[in-house]
Amino acid sequence: MAVSGTIDAHVHLMPPRLMAAIRKSLSAEAGWTFDHPTEREAMEAELRAAGIDRYIALPYAHKPDMAAELNGWVLAAAEDSAMAVPFATVHGDDDVAAVVRAAFEAGAGGLKFQCPVQECGPADPRLDPAFELAAEYDRSIVFHAGTAPMFESSPHVGADQFEQFVESYPEVRACAAHMGTFEADAFMEFAREHEQVFLDTTMALSPRSADVLGFDPSEIGDDQLAELSESVMFGTDFPNVPYPYEAERRGLIERELSEAVYADVFRRTAERFLGER
Ligand SMILES: [Zn+2]
Repeated sequence: MAVSGTIDAHVHLMPPRLMAAIRKSLSAEAGWTFDHPTEREAMEAELRAAGIDRYIALPYAHKPDMAAELNGWVLAAAEDSAMAVPFATVHGDDDVAAVVRAAFEAGAGGLKFQCPVQECGPADPRLDPAFELAAEYDRSIVFHAGTAPMFESSPHVGADQFEQFVESYPEVRACAAHMGTFEADAFMEFAREHEQVFLDTTMALSPRSADVLGFDPSEIGDDQLAELSESVMFGTDFPNVPYPYEAERRGLIERELSEAVYADVFRRTAERFLGER
């Protein structure tokens, strides 16, 4: 089962030193180890070998005063790439409007918030200028909006926070990463009710989800994926995946869904998320 033009909607492309720091903290907190490369060209070689045509490149800023430079780095890296769709980020304590407007003017396709790590979420009023600019420029947003894998006590995530965003910005396409994981049912309901709500499959639907995320993928039924295929996009968290790249897709392929569903999940939904269709 190969869908031509496959898009991985959840890849992290950041400067090597920042990636090394992120990996160090993920290893310390979750015990994960990583074998995938972090340099853009090597990453893209691995993705291409796996049949991926394009990917959404997501940065995030864990502290203030770094997003502008980070966004510039991602946008420059994407300029040299035939595969990367660059997104940008901003921290709640930055000059939010200035950072986001500059990124959009320079071609960022959307914004990414790693809410628990950045300590600012979809209901944070400091981010309103970013959300208003996403509406103005017709750009999309990816939120790590769920409580997985270890953020159940964070005040910046959860279905309630995401719902506030959806109600406040009905014109902005918003993706809850990882299927919203522990609250997948609530997030799937938002996707059912709102066509601007998207979900990505990242780490939630792989054969390794139970041991790395503490989530049993069979909690999400084949019928639910088929019903929501126009809202669900394939994503992986590559290169920060503590298992082989192919495992992520295998979980989806083994469900033996229809060709139309796979065409949505592996390409068309991401195109819709990016405003291309
Ligand atoms: Zn991620």
